[in-house]
Amino acid sequence: MTSRRRRDVWDLVVIGGGIAGLTAAWHGMRRGLATALFEPGPGYGGQVATVNALDDWPATGPVSGVELAATLANALDGEVVEAMHESVAAVRVEGEHLRVESATHSVRSRRVIAASGAALKSLGVTGEGALRGKGVSQCAHCDGGFFRNQDVVVVGGGDAALQEALVLAGVCRSVTIVARSRLKARAAYTERAASKTNVVFVWESEVTAVLGEAGVTGVRLRNVKTGAQTDYPCSGVFPFIGVAAETSYLPLQVKRNAAGLVVTDGEMRSSLPGLYAIGALRAGYGGDLVSAAGEAALAVANVTRELSL
Ligand SMILES: Cc1cc2nc3c(=O)[nH]c(=O)nc-3n(C[C@H](O)[C@H](O)[C@H](O)COP(=O)(O)OP(=O)(O)OC[C@H]3O[C@@H](n4cnc5c(N)ncnc54)[C@H](O)[C@@H]3O)c2cc1C
Repeated sequence: MTSRRRRDVWDLVVIGGGIAGLTAAWHGMRRGLATALFEPGPGYGGQVATVNALDDWPATGPVSGVELAATLANALDGEVVEAMHESVAAVRVEGEHLRVESATHSVRSRRVIAASGAALKSLGVTGEGALRGKGVSQCAHCDGGFFRNQDVVVVGGGDAALQEALVLAGVCRSVTIVARSRLKARAAYTERAASKTNVVFVWESEVTAVLGEAGVTGVRLRNVKTGAQTDYPCSGVFPFIGVAAETSYLPLQVKRNAAGLVVTDGEMRSSLPGLYAIGALRAGYGGDLVSAAGEAALAVANVTRELSL
Protein backbone atom coordinates (compact mmCIF):
# COMPACT_ATOMS: atom_id res chain seq x y z
CA MET A 1 0.00 0.00 0.00
CA THR A 2 1.37 3.38 -0.86
CA SER A 3 0.57 6.89 0.23
CA ARG A 4 -1.14 8.56 -2.69
CA ARG A 5 -3.58 11.14 -1.45
CA ARG A 6 -3.49 13.78 1.23
CA ARG A 7 -6.75 15.24 2.48
CA ASP A 8 -7.81 17.94 4.84
CA VAL A 9 -10.69 15.83 6.12
CA TRP A 10 -11.07 12.10 5.53
CA ASP A 11 -14.44 10.39 5.34
CA LEU A 12 -13.12 7.42 7.26
CA VAL A 13 -10.00 6.67 9.27
CA VAL A 14 -9.47 3.02 10.20
CA ILE A 15 -7.17 2.29 13.13
CA GLY A 16 -5.47 -1.11 12.85
CA GLY A 17 -4.45 -3.30 9.92
CA GLY A 18 -5.59 -6.67 11.26
CA ILE A 19 -8.30 -8.55 9.38
CA ALA A 20 -11.05 -6.33 10.85
CA GLY A 21 -9.28 -3.10 9.90
CA LEU A 22 -8.18 -4.26 6.45
CA THR A 23 -11.72 -5.40 5.67
CA ALA A 24 -13.12 -2.07 6.87
CA ALA A 25 -10.66 -0.13 4.71
CA TRP A 26 -11.50 -2.34 1.75
CA HIS A 27 -15.25 -1.78 2.20
CA GLY A 28 -14.63 1.95 2.67
CA MET A 29 -12.78 2.02 -0.63
CA ARG A 30 -15.51 0.02 -2.38
CA ARG A 31 -18.16 2.43 -1.13
CA GLY A 32 -16.27 5.46 -2.35
CA LEU A 33 -15.22 6.77 1.07
CA ALA A 34 -11.96 8.70 1.25
CA THR A 35 -10.25 6.28 3.61
CA ALA A 36 -7.00 6.32 5.58
CA LEU A 37 -5.57 3.38 7.51
CA PHE A 38 -3.15 3.44 10.45
CA GLU A 39 -1.09 0.30 11.10
CA PRO A 40 2.30 0.38 12.84
CA GLY A 41 3.36 -2.88 11.22
CA PRO A 42 5.86 -4.25 10.36
CA GLY A 43 3.22 -6.03 8.26
CA TYR A 44 -0.54 -6.41 8.14
CA GLY A 45 -2.70 -9.15 9.61
CA GLY A 46 -2.48 -8.57 13.37
CA GLN A 47 -2.95 -11.74 15.40
CA VAL A 48 -3.06 -14.04 12.38
CA ALA A 49 0.00 -12.58 10.67
CA THR A 50 2.03 -15.60 11.83
CA VAL A 51 -0.64 -18.31 11.56
CA ASN A 52 0.19 -20.81 8.80
CA ALA A 53 -3.18 -22.45 8.21
CA LEU A 54 -6.34 -20.55 9.11
CA ASP A 55 -9.40 -22.41 10.32
CA ASP A 56 -13.00 -21.41 9.67
CA TRP A 57 -12.17 -18.89 6.97
CA PRO A 58 -14.30 -19.44 3.86
CA ALA A 59 -11.83 -19.93 1.02
CA THR A 60 -11.42 -22.35 -1.85
CA GLY A 61 -8.35 -23.92 -0.23
CA PRO A 62 -5.95 -23.63 2.70
CA VAL A 63 -4.91 -20.05 3.37
CA SER A 64 -2.37 -18.62 5.79
CA GLY A 65 -2.78 -15.44 7.82
CA VAL A 66 -0.04 -13.71 5.90
CA GLU A 67 -1.68 -14.61 2.57
CA LEU A 68 -5.07 -13.35 3.69
CA ALA A 69 -3.62 -10.09 5.00
CA ALA A 70 -1.51 -9.60 1.88
CA THR A 71 -4.51 -10.19 -0.38
CA LEU A 72 -6.57 -7.62 1.50
CA ALA A 73 -3.69 -5.13 1.71
CA ASN A 74 -2.88 -5.50 -1.99
CA ALA A 75 -6.50 -4.82 -2.86
CA LEU A 76 -6.09 -1.47 -1.09
CA ASP A 77 -2.89 -0.66 -2.92
CA GLY A 78 -4.44 1.89 -5.16
CA GLU A 79 -5.78 5.33 -5.46
CA VAL A 80 -8.18 5.58 -2.60
CA VAL A 81 -6.71 4.27 0.66
CA GLU A 82 -3.80 6.03 2.28
CA ALA A 83 -1.76 3.94 4.71
CA MET A 84 0.03 5.54 7.61
CA HIS A 85 2.54 3.18 9.15
CA GLU A 86 2.34 4.45 12.68
CA SER A 87 0.62 3.64 15.92
CA VAL A 88 -2.27 5.94 16.78
CA ALA A 89 -1.51 7.79 20.01
CA ALA A 90 -4.77 9.71 20.48
CA VAL A 91 -8.27 10.26 19.16
CA ARG A 92 -10.07 13.42 20.16
CA VAL A 93 -13.18 15.34 19.30
CA GLU A 94 -12.66 18.44 17.18
CA GLY A 95 -15.92 20.14 16.34
CA GLU A 96 -17.95 17.84 14.13
CA HIS A 97 -14.88 15.73 13.31
CA LEU A 98 -12.56 13.37 15.12
CA ARG A 99 -8.83 14.05 15.11
CA VAL A 100 -6.51 11.05 14.94
CA GLU A 101 -2.90 11.56 15.97
CA SER A 102 0.26 9.49 15.68
CA ALA A 103 3.92 10.46 16.02
CA THR A 104 4.10 12.34 12.71
CA HIS A 105 0.51 12.40 11.44
CA SER A 106 -2.47 14.38 12.63
CA VAL A 107 -5.59 13.94 10.52
CA ARG A 108 -9.26 14.85 10.77
CA SER A 109 -12.02 12.47 9.82
CA ARG A 110 -15.78 12.45 9.65
CA ARG A 111 -15.88 8.91 11.04
CA VAL A 112 -13.32 6.65 12.71
CA ILE A 113 -13.36 2.87 13.02
CA ALA A 114 -11.20 1.55 15.87
CA ALA A 115 -9.92 -1.91 14.90
CA SER A 116 -6.73 -2.04 16.94
CA GLY A 117 -7.58 -5.49 18.23
CA ALA A 118 -5.72 -7.11 21.03
CA ALA A 119 -2.24 -8.32 21.89
CA LEU A 120 -1.38 -11.73 23.32
CA LYS A 121 -1.06 -11.57 27.11
CA SER A 122 2.17 -12.47 28.85
CA LEU A 123 2.26 -14.79 31.83
CA GLY A 124 3.77 -12.04 33.96
CA VAL A 125 5.94 -14.47 35.91
CA THR A 126 9.61 -14.49 36.92
CA GLY A 127 11.96 -15.42 34.10
CA GLU A 128 9.50 -14.88 31.26
CA GLY A 129 10.81 -11.48 30.15
CA ALA A 130 14.49 -12.38 30.48
CA LEU A 131 14.02 -15.60 28.49
CA ARG A 132 11.85 -14.17 25.71
CA GLY A 133 13.60 -15.17 22.49
CA LYS A 134 15.69 -17.69 24.46
CA GLY A 135 12.96 -20.29 24.73
CA VAL A 136 9.87 -18.19 25.44
CA SER A 137 7.86 -17.58 22.26
CA GLN A 138 4.31 -16.77 21.18
CA CYS A 139 4.62 -18.01 17.61
CA ALA A 140 4.78 -21.73 16.90
CA HIS A 141 5.12 -21.21 13.15
CA CYS A 142 8.02 -18.79 13.51
CA ASP A 143 9.94 -20.53 16.29
CA GLY A 144 8.73 -24.14 16.39
CA GLY A 145 11.67 -25.30 14.25
CA PHE A 146 14.12 -24.23 16.98
CA PHE A 147 12.57 -26.89 19.24
CA ARG A 148 12.76 -29.83 16.84
CA ASN A 149 12.82 -33.11 18.82
CA GLN A 150 12.73 -31.18 22.10
CA ASP A 151 10.14 -30.89 24.87
CA VAL A 152 7.98 -27.76 25.03
CA VAL A 153 5.17 -26.43 27.19
CA VAL A 154 2.12 -24.58 25.86
CA VAL A 155 0.21 -22.57 28.46
CA GLY A 156 -3.54 -22.09 27.98
CA GLY A 157 -6.64 -24.01 27.01
CA GLY A 158 -8.31 -21.88 24.33
CA ASP A 159 -8.33 -22.12 20.53
CA ALA A 160 -5.03 -20.29 20.08
CA ALA A 161 -3.22 -22.52 22.61
CA LEU A 162 -4.49 -25.74 21.05
CA GLN A 163 -3.90 -24.54 17.48
CA GLU A 164 -0.30 -23.64 18.29
CA ALA A 165 0.21 -26.87 20.29
CA LEU A 166 -0.85 -28.89 17.23
CA VAL A 167 1.74 -27.09 15.11
CA LEU A 168 4.43 -27.79 17.70
CA ALA A 169 3.37 -31.45 17.94
CA GLY A 170 4.51 -31.82 14.34
CA VAL A 171 8.12 -30.93 15.16
CA CYS A 172 8.71 -31.35 18.89
CA ARG A 173 9.37 -34.56 20.83
CA SER A 174 6.66 -33.69 23.32
CA VAL A 175 4.16 -30.89 23.87
CA THR A 176 2.73 -30.42 27.35
CA ILE A 177 -0.40 -28.29 27.54
CA VAL A 178 -0.79 -26.65 30.94
CA ALA A 179 -4.39 -25.64 31.64
CA ARG A 180 -5.92 -24.07 34.73
CA SER A 181 -9.40 -25.41 34.09
CA ARG A 182 -11.24 -27.39 31.45
CA LEU A 183 -10.30 -26.64 27.84
CA LYS A 184 -12.27 -23.86 26.15
CA ALA A 185 -10.98 -24.68 22.68
CA ARG A 186 -13.29 -26.01 19.99
CA ALA A 187 -13.84 -29.77 19.89
CA ALA A 188 -11.97 -30.21 16.60
CA TYR A 189 -8.74 -28.97 18.23
CA THR A 190 -9.13 -30.87 21.50
CA GLU A 191 -9.90 -34.12 19.66
CA ARG A 192 -6.88 -33.72 17.40
CA ALA A 193 -4.65 -32.92 20.38
CA ALA A 194 -5.96 -35.91 22.33
CA SER A 195 -5.16 -38.19 19.38
CA LYS A 196 -1.48 -37.14 19.29
CA THR A 197 0.82 -39.49 21.16
CA ASN A 198 3.32 -36.70 21.91
CA VAL A 199 0.76 -34.28 23.42
CA VAL A 200 0.12 -34.50 27.16
CA PHE A 201 -2.00 -32.37 29.47
CA VAL A 202 -1.28 -31.04 32.94
CA TRP A 203 -4.63 -30.04 34.42
CA GLU A 204 -5.62 -27.52 37.09
CA SER A 205 -2.17 -25.97 37.00
CA GLU A 206 -0.55 -22.64 36.23
CA VAL A 207 2.99 -21.57 35.45
CA THR A 208 4.49 -19.49 38.28
CA ALA A 209 8.04 -19.12 36.88
CA VAL A 210 10.06 -19.79 33.76
CA LEU A 211 13.35 -21.42 34.72
CA GLY A 212 16.78 -21.11 33.12
CA GLU A 213 19.58 -18.60 32.56
CA ALA A 214 21.03 -18.74 29.04
CA GLY A 215 17.89 -20.53 27.82
CA VAL A 216 14.72 -22.11 29.14
CA THR A 217 15.31 -25.28 31.16
CA GLY A 218 11.83 -25.68 32.61
CA VAL A 219 8.78 -24.12 34.19
CA ARG A 220 7.56 -24.07 37.77
CA LEU A 221 3.99 -25.33 38.00
CA ARG A 222 1.50 -24.74 40.78
CA ASN A 223 -1.56 -26.89 41.20
CA VAL A 224 -4.41 -24.39 41.63
CA LYS A 225 -6.37 -26.78 43.87
CA THR A 226 -3.64 -28.04 46.22
CA GLY A 227 -1.04 -25.27 45.87
CA ALA A 228 1.67 -27.91 45.34
CA GLN A 229 4.62 -26.68 43.25
CA THR A 230 6.75 -28.78 40.90
CA ASP A 231 9.52 -27.99 38.44
CA TYR A 232 8.80 -29.35 34.96
CA PRO A 233 11.71 -29.62 32.50
CA CYS A 234 11.32 -28.23 28.95
CA SER A 235 13.29 -26.17 26.41
CA GLY A 236 10.47 -23.97 25.16
CA VAL A 237 7.45 -22.17 26.64
CA PHE A 238 4.57 -20.87 24.49
CA PRO A 239 2.04 -18.80 26.48
CA PHE A 240 -1.43 -18.42 24.90
CA ILE A 241 -3.52 -17.28 27.84
CA GLY A 242 -5.74 -14.78 26.07
CA VAL A 243 -5.48 -11.29 24.69
CA ALA A 244 -5.67 -7.75 26.07
CA ALA A 245 -7.50 -5.06 24.10
CA GLU A 246 -5.46 -2.19 22.62
CA THR A 247 -7.56 0.86 23.45
CA SER A 248 -5.13 3.13 25.30
CA TYR A 249 -5.36 5.88 22.64
CA LEU A 250 -9.14 6.23 22.97
CA PRO A 251 -10.57 9.00 25.16
CA LEU A 252 -11.96 8.07 28.56
CA GLN A 253 -15.48 8.98 27.44
CA VAL A 254 -15.48 5.87 25.21
CA LYS A 255 -17.36 3.34 27.29
CA ARG A 256 -15.50 0.10 28.08
CA ASN A 257 -16.61 -2.98 29.98
CA ALA A 258 -14.84 -4.38 33.06
CA ALA A 259 -12.37 -6.21 30.80
CA GLY A 260 -11.45 -2.98 29.01
CA LEU A 261 -13.27 -3.89 25.79
CA VAL A 262 -15.11 -1.13 23.93
CA VAL A 263 -18.88 -1.28 24.33
CA THR A 264 -20.91 -0.70 21.15
CA ASP A 265 -24.49 -0.95 20.03
CA GLY A 266 -25.51 -3.61 17.53
CA GLU A 267 -24.46 -1.31 14.70
CA MET A 268 -20.84 -1.12 16.01
CA ARG A 269 -21.24 2.48 17.26
CA SER A 270 -19.31 3.33 20.42
CA SER A 271 -20.49 5.83 23.04
CA LEU A 272 -18.41 8.56 21.32
CA PRO A 273 -20.33 10.02 18.36
CA GLY A 274 -18.55 9.24 15.08
CA LEU A 275 -16.42 6.45 16.55
CA TYR A 276 -17.10 2.82 15.69
CA ALA A 277 -15.34 -0.20 17.20
CA ILE A 278 -14.97 -3.61 15.56
CA GLY A 279 -13.10 -6.87 16.01
CA ALA A 280 -11.06 -8.06 18.96
CA LEU A 281 -11.21 -4.79 20.93
CA ARG A 282 -15.03 -4.83 21.01
CA ALA A 283 -17.13 -6.28 23.82
CA GLY A 284 -19.24 -9.06 22.32
CA TYR A 285 -16.86 -9.78 19.43
CA GLY A 286 -17.38 -13.30 18.08
CA GLY A 287 -13.68 -14.17 18.41
CA ASP A 288 -13.01 -15.36 14.87
CA LEU A 289 -12.01 -13.89 11.54
CA VAL A 290 -15.43 -14.23 9.97
CA SER A 291 -16.86 -12.10 12.80
CA ALA A 292 -14.07 -9.54 12.34
CA ALA A 293 -14.86 -9.23 8.64
CA GLY A 294 -18.62 -9.15 9.24
CA GLU A 295 -18.34 -6.40 11.86
CA ALA A 296 -16.17 -4.39 9.47
CA ALA A 297 -18.72 -4.65 6.68
CA LEU A 298 -21.56 -3.65 9.01
CA ALA A 299 -19.69 -0.67 10.44
CA VAL A 300 -18.76 0.67 6.99
CA ALA A 301 -22.33 0.25 5.74
CA ASN A 302 -23.50 2.37 8.68
CA VAL A 303 -20.78 4.97 8.14
CA THR A 304 -21.79 5.23 4.49
CA ARG A 305 -25.43 5.65 5.43
CA GLU A 306 -24.61 8.33 8.00
CA LEU A 307 -22.49 10.26 5.54
CA SER A 308 -25.22 9.81 2.90
CA LEU A 309 -22.80 8.81 0.19
C1 LIG B 1 -2.44 -17.78 17.49
C2 LIG B 1 -3.81 -17.42 17.01
C3 LIG B 1 -4.41 -18.17 16.00
C4 LIG B 1 -5.69 -17.85 15.53
N1 LIG B 1 -6.24 -18.60 14.53
C5 LIG B 1 -7.47 -18.29 14.06
C6 LIG B 1 -8.06 -19.05 12.99
O1 LIG B 1 -7.46 -19.99 12.47
N2 LIG B 1 -9.31 -18.70 12.55
C7 LIG B 1 -10.01 -17.67 13.12
O2 LIG B 1 -11.13 -17.41 12.68
N3 LIG B 1 -9.47 -16.92 14.14
C8 LIG B 1 -8.22 -17.21 14.62
N4 LIG B 1 -7.68 -16.47 15.64
C9 LIG B 1 -8.46 -15.34 16.16
C10 LIG B 1 -8.26 -14.15 15.21
O3 LIG B 1 -6.91 -14.05 14.91
C11 LIG B 1 -8.71 -12.83 15.82
O4 LIG B 1 -10.03 -12.93 16.29
C12 LIG B 1 -8.64 -11.72 14.76
O5 LIG B 1 -7.36 -11.73 14.16
C13 LIG B 1 -8.91 -10.36 15.34
O6 LIG B 1 -8.71 -9.43 14.30
P1 LIG B 1 -8.67 -7.85 14.58
O7 LIG B 1 -8.38 -7.21 13.27
O8 LIG B 1 -9.89 -7.45 15.32
O9 LIG B 1 -7.47 -7.61 15.61
P2 LIG B 1 -5.92 -7.93 15.53
O10 LIG B 1 -5.65 -9.13 14.74
O11 LIG B 1 -5.46 -7.88 16.96
O12 LIG B 1 -5.31 -6.68 14.73
C14 LIG B 1 -5.19 -5.41 15.31
C15 LIG B 1 -4.21 -4.59 14.50
O13 LIG B 1 -4.21 -3.27 15.03
C16 LIG B 1 -2.88 -2.79 15.11
N5 LIG B 1 -2.81 -1.79 16.19
C17 LIG B 1 -2.75 -2.01 17.53
N6 LIG B 1 -2.69 -0.84 18.19
C18 LIG B 1 -2.72 0.14 17.24
C19 LIG B 1 -2.67 1.57 17.30
N7 LIG B 1 -2.60 2.23 18.46
N8 LIG B 1 -2.70 2.25 16.13
C20 LIG B 1 -2.79 1.60 14.93
N9 LIG B 1 -2.84 0.25 14.82
C21 LIG B 1 -2.80 -0.47 15.97
C22 LIG B 1 -2.04 -4.04 15.40
O14 LIG B 1 -0.69 -3.85 14.99
C23 LIG B 1 -2.77 -5.10 14.58
O15 LIG B 1 -2.24 -5.22 13.28
C24 LIG B 1 -6.41 -16.76 16.11
C25 LIG B 1 -5.80 -16.00 17.12
C26 LIG B 1 -4.52 -16.31 17.56
C27 LIG B 1 -3.88 -15.46 18.63
